[in-house]
Amino acid sequence: MAALNPFAIAQQQLDEAAERLGLDRATHELLRWPMREYHFTLPIKMDNGRTSIFKGYRVQYNNARGPTKGGLRWHPEETIDTIRALAAWMTWKTALVDIPLGGGKGGITCNPKELSEAEKERLARAYIRAIWRELGVDRDVPAPDVYTTPQIMAWMMDEYETIVGHSHPGVITGKPLPIGGSPGRTDATARGGVYCVREAAKALNLDLSNATYVIQGFGNAGQFAATLHREILGGGTLLAVSDSRGGAINRKGINPADMVQHKLETGTVTGFPGTELISNEDLLELKCDVLYPAALEAVITDRNAQNINARIVCELANGPTTPEADKILQDKGVYVLPDFLANAGGVTVSYFEQVQNTYNYYWSLEEVHRQLDLKMSRAFHDVHEMSQKLKTHNRLAAYMLAVTRVAEACKLRGWV
Ligand code: NAD
Repeated sequence: MAALNPFAIAQQQLDEAAERLGLDRATHELLRWPMREYHFTLPIKMDNGRTSIFKGYRVQYNNARGPTKGGLRWHPEETIDTIRALAAWMTWKTALVDIPLGGGKGGITCNPKELSEAEKERLARAYIRAIWRELGVDRDVPAPDVYTTPQIMAWMMDEYETIVGHSHPGVITGKPLPIGGSPGRTDATARGGVYCVREAAKALNLDLSNATYVIQGFGNAGQFAATLHREILGGGTLLAVSDSRGGAINRKGINPADMVQHKLETGTVTGFPGTELISNEDLLELKCDVLYPAALEAVITDRNAQNINARIVCELANGPTTPEADKILQDKGVYVLPDFLANAGGVTVSYFEQVQNTYNYYWSLEEVHRQLDLKMSRAFHDVHEMSQKLKTHNRLAAYMLAVTRVAEACKLRGWV
């Protein structure tokens, strides 16, 4: 079967919202495409003395509401269409949590697991040399995404500042704390998602203090979700987790902090004492209260949606559910917290980081959590109320809210 094209999915989702909103033809067409995109060919000297050639991209999808913002993904299967889709979702995400930014995304097709630290540094710096003219707090601000780290952000900021010749920490977010990172950025994506689960439980009248939960993907988003779920909801049993090498299950429960330590030490979740192996496919179909997809796109499709056995799906990953699967989940009564709501905590704290960098004054961790909670709770209730009012699923409701805001900005600027 041909791989699903994430950008075609993003356009299909927008089309549905545009139709429900009765959006005019020009605005709809404008919002279906990136406004600007860059392609680079990056020659990198490898440690063995040979040169390897890498492909890089940056998509600035829409800046009607403010400078574009979005992560950088380093992945062997990276394509321009994945980046376009992710940039579109960033546009809807920043609008939904109502921060004054547009949407962008970038990436490099590469396998960071096969690169040394020195090679990663050369690649990070080469990427910035290719795009630096188009970056800045008033233009476009990158951040981490899959397989990019605070260290990579630090090299990138340093390269940018070296070229422009002055300090400009807000050019990139997700930096390490000692060089302008924000307290609370590392766990912000998962924290924002769990805040949404907490608010959903209130709206649906569910008691989740003894809930079972399952996590697909055990990187930044997945690992913090494992520990924060129990911390924020006051309890819960983690049944299973997975990563690119497979999954681990223990129906009596897995200690989240010990699993994080195991992943850190061994590089995988498999082999954790007391667990059995489970495939990524079977893990998604486990009966549980909350399922957190926290890996890659298109894992819940028309082929397995009927078998999803969760009460709530909290999409920490971008694009884990296809449009066909959305309809099946809605019919089954599964409550989906759509990606650009559920994982908006990351960009929200990235925005707080930019604000702090600009003021050169830093907030306490408590202040970051308080402000994040306000933004996420407000966005959740906006989406929930809209979906109740229109008797539709949360993703369409979220799209309608976000697209209305971006369309209004385009109109006010006189673009359409
Ligand atoms: P990460 O690189 O820290 O972790 C990715 C995890 O997914 C790893 O554990 C990896 O082993 C696992 N994985 C990769 N391929 C897999 C597969 N085929 N099946 C199962 N697991 C697989 O990345 P992250 O930052 O945690 O991002 C995860 C998802 O969350 C992505 O969709 C990303 O776009 C989204 N997201 C992240 C942030 C953030 O701030 N980090 C913000 C918003 C959205």
